[in-house]
Parts: sequence; structure tokens; C-alpha cells
Amino acid sequence: MERGINDPDTLRAMRQVERHEFVPEKMKKGAYSDSPMSIGHYQTISQPYIVGYMTQALKLKPEHRVLEIGTGSGYQAAVLATIVASVYTIEIVEPLGIVAKKRFQDLGYDNIRTTIGDGYHGWPDEAPFNAIIVTAAVKKIPTALIDQLAEGGRMIIPVRHSDLRYYLVLVTKKNGEISYKKLIPVAFVPFTRNTD
Ligand code: SAH
Repeated sequence: MERGINDPDTLRAMRQVERHEFVPEKMKKGAYSDSPMSIGHYQTISQPYIVGYMTQALKLKPEHRVLEIGTGSGYQAAVLATIVASVYTIEIVEPLGIVAKKRFQDLGYDNIRTTIGDGYHGWPDEAPFNAIIVTAAVKKIPTALIDQLAEGGRMIIPVRHSDLRYYLVLVTKKNGEISYKKLIPVAFVPFTRNTD
């Protein structure tokens, strides 16, 4: 974990969470290479470097409540849950959400709440969140997610830029004002909607 991941909590969480627990049986051997991997349903578990980068960018504190859009394998949620008090994670592909929920139970992550649905709307009943992490790429940042960010909160989200590439964008809310900072270029599966 070179290349600028130096936040002690992020490094500790990534050492602690066993990535092989989150990939399909036949792929366990490759679980510790720094690359994305298929988890079925045309979805992927993110590259460990990107998981570390996004986690670090959220500047998490132990008491934080975090919302994740795109549960996928559950790996990113497990890394977050190792650092913060509670994680809420939403997955749109039902079978992935079900497998991840069972995985969290089996591995003892009792501070992760899961739901199946379209993360475009966030999780209004549990808002506001100190941090929001979106792990599928959007063309436009959903307003509901900005609304559900707590004062002082940070959101990290892959957004399509005018050059048609995707960049991680850091959204911060300070004194009610929203700021955007473009970070590194990334490859992500697209954000999907059941309705449009
Ligand atoms: N965080 C995941 C990586 C997931 S890949 C991990 O650690 O493994 C992106 C995930 O976002 C996929 O599982 C995809 O089904 C989900 N997704 C895409 N659009 C979504 C939406 N609108 N709402 C919720 N989840 C969505």
C-alpha cells in the first residue's frame, strides 16, 4: 500500500479485512493482487488501491455514520465498518445484496445495515451521514445524496467529466456550502437505475 495511502486507520482496516472472504470461491487465489475482480452480475470488487484511496479521502472518525451506494461484494463496506460506528449500504442487484448481507452476518460485522434498492435516493430515514461513498459511476451527482450529507460531511463519488473520462470527486459540506474537488481518474462500473 504505497502510492499515498498513509492514513493509519485505513491501513489497519485494509490489513484486517480479508479480501478473499469477499470474492467468489474460484477466484480466492487472486484476491490479494491490486486489481479489480469480477463478482458476477457484470459487477466488480474494486481494486484495493482505490478502496484505500476512497476510504482515506473520507477522513473518517470512529463515531461516524457512513452511507455506501453499491454494496457489491461487501468488501468496501467491511473496510469502512472496521473504522466507524455504523455503515449503511445499498445495492440495486438483489442477489448481490443478499449474498453480501449473509457474508456480513457470517463474518460478524454487526455494525453494517444493508438494503436492496436504488441508491440514487440515498437512505433518507437514516440521514444525515458524516460520509457518503458511491462505488458506481454517475453522470451527475444525485441531489438526494448531497442533501443527506451532514454538516462537515464528505462524499466521494466517481463522476463523468466533460472529457468523457471518470474522475473521483470529493464533495464537502461546510457551513451549509457545497464544494467540489476533482481528484484522480478512475474506471468504475456505471451507476444503474431500474427506472429512468
Ligand atoms: N463497493 C463494492 C464495489 C461494487 S461495484 C465492493 O466493495 O465490492 C458497484 C456496485 O454498485 C455493483 O454491485 C452495482 O450493482 C451497484 N450499483 C450500481 N448502481 C446502483 C444503484 N443505483 N444503487 C445501488 N447500487 C448500485
